Amino acid sequence: MTPFATLVPLNDGNAMPQLGLGVWQVRDEQAAEIVATALQTGYRSVDTAAIYRNEAGVGEGLRASGLPRSELFVTTKLWNDSHARAPQALEDSLRRLGLDYVDLYLIHWPVAGGETFLQAWEDMIRLCQAGLARAIGVSNFTAGQLKRLMQCSDVIPAVNQIELHPGFAQRELRAFHADYGIATESWSPLGQGQALQHPVIVQIAQALGRTPAQVVLRWHLQNGLVAIPKSVTPQRIRENFAVFDFTLDEAAMQAIDALEQGPRLGPDPDVFRG
Ligand code: NAD
Repeated sequence: MTPFATLVPLNDGNAMPQLGLGVWQVRDEQAAEIVATALQTGYRSVDTAAIYRNEAGVGEGLRASGLPRSELFVTTKLWNDSHARAPQALEDSLRRLGLDYVDLYLIHWPVAGGETFLQAWEDMIRLCQAGLARAIGVSNFTAGQLKRLMQCSDVIPAVNQIELHPGFAQRELRAFHADYGIATESWSPLGQGQALQHPVIVQIAQALGRTPAQVVLRWHLQNGLVAIPKSVTPQRIRENFAVFDFTLDEAAMQAIDALEQGPRLGPDPDVFRG
């Protein structure tokens, strides 16, 4: 039987799969095939963005699967130059995807040095009310930026998608999210592959007869995080989803938690303008 990802409840009454496919740096021509492979494997969630320029290919893969729309969970994101035109940007994304709605629409970056995200958020609330996005959230927001957003709006983001992997575990921001019922979604969950070389991870994987990627993804799942690993290799896409039939014990979880916390791999939201 095909395993399905566990679901994480969102603060708006929706729920999202805890494991999905990330498609950053997947070429549009390649996206349909990659998405189709993932859906055959059991993935139901795909994370794209306007700036990835592969929404058309993603949409093609979704349609080719023949799966009912209600079984799919599609995320896309509002790019930094479009904060003042969210309704048009979402319409463009939906057209490329070939969908009537997305399951989750995120503000991709807060865009440091300004507060354009406040207008984007107000528009996104209306897009959600109009049914064009089932859930809305943000990405790369710091606690300070989230506080500012929540000062100006009664609607708390359902999700904050942030860089998060064993070497950059974001404990403080996760605690802040927990206080407000915001789901934490990990981007670069495998540390862009770097986490897989770490001797502690390799040793745990060997002891369990699993791969380092599977161990890292279990760490995300057991921490209640949503993870969206990316791969374009069918065998790895399958490997990354074969994580629902084992668990890490407390000692393994603690050993991964104890890994040295390094610098970010991606941009710092306090300075990044895109
Ligand atoms: P990732 O941590 O998912 O690592 C992906 C890389 O790890 C692959 O390119 C491959 O080299 C390697 N890999 C994957 N599976 C493997 C396996 N089983 N064995 C060995 N190596 C393996 O990094 P990512 O692509 O940066 O992040 C995942 C997704 O997060 C993206 O595709 C995108 O959807 C999202 N993302 C969002 C933002 C944002 O600003 N919101 C930023 C970056 C990424």
